[in-house]
Amino acid sequence: MTHLKHEKTLVLIKPDGVQRSLIGEIINRYERAGLKLVGLKILVPTSDMVDRHYSLDPSWKQSVGEKAIASYEKRGMEPPSRDPIKLGDRVLDGLKKYLVCGPVIAMVWQGAHAVEVVRKITGGTEPRTSDVGTIRGDFVLDSYQMADTDGRAVRNLIHASGSVQEATQEIPLWFNENEILSYRLVQEQILYDVNIDGILE
Ligand code: ADP
Ligand code: MG
Repeated sequence: MTHLKHEKTLVLIKPDGVQRSLIGEIINRYERAGLKLVGLKILVPTSDMVDRHYSLDPSWKQSVGEKAIASYEKRGMEPPSRDPIKLGDRVLDGLKKYLVCGPVIAMVWQGAHAVEVVRKITGGTEPRTSDVGTIRGDFVLDSYQMADTDGRAVRNLIHASGSVQEATQEIPLWFNENEILSYRLVQEQILYDVNIDGILE
C-alpha cells in the first residue's frame, strides 16, 4: 500500500480569489499546514472544461440540487423547482459563467490526508456560514441568498476536491502527468519519518 503522504488533491483559486489578490494568502494556508505543492499553473478555463469538471461525478448535480433545495427551505422559501437535477443545472450554468470570467490558479497539493485537510482549511461551501479561521470564512461573505437573488453561483474563492476519488478524477483534467512533480521537502523527515534522529549536533 502506498504511504498516505502520497495523497493528492486538486485546488482551484477561482477568478474572485485571483481578483481579490489572495493567491499568496491561500497558498500560504495550505503550505504552512505541511502540504507540498506538486503542480501549479495559471489559466482561463473554457466553459467546456468547467462542464467536464463538474460532470466527472454523475451524482454531483443531484446532491448540489438537494443542498440548494434545503437552503431555500431553511430560509422559509419555496425553491424555484423541486427537481434537484433542474437546480443542479442552474448551479452548473452559474459556475460556467463564474469560472471562465478570468484567470484561475490550478494546483495539486500532496500530503497525508491531503483531500480532508485541504477541505478543512478551505471551509464550507457557503462563506456566510463557513467557520472563522477557514479561508472561505475569513476572506469572503457570499451566501446562497445573494447568489439565488442574483441568479449566479456562490463566490467562495476556491474549489477543492471533495473526496480522494474526486481528486483522482479531477487532477488529470487540469494537469498532464509530466506537470506533476515528485520531489522531497526537507520538512518531510519531521512530518513522516519514523526516525527523527540526527537533529542534535
Ligand atoms: P464545494 O465547492 O464546497 O465542493 P459543491 O461541489 O457543492 O461545493 O458546489 C460547487 C460550487 O458551486 C460551489 O463551490 C459554489 O461556487 C457553487 N454552488 C454550490 N451550491 C450552490 C447554490 N445553491 N447556488 C449557487 N451556487 C452554488
Ligand atoms: Mg464539490
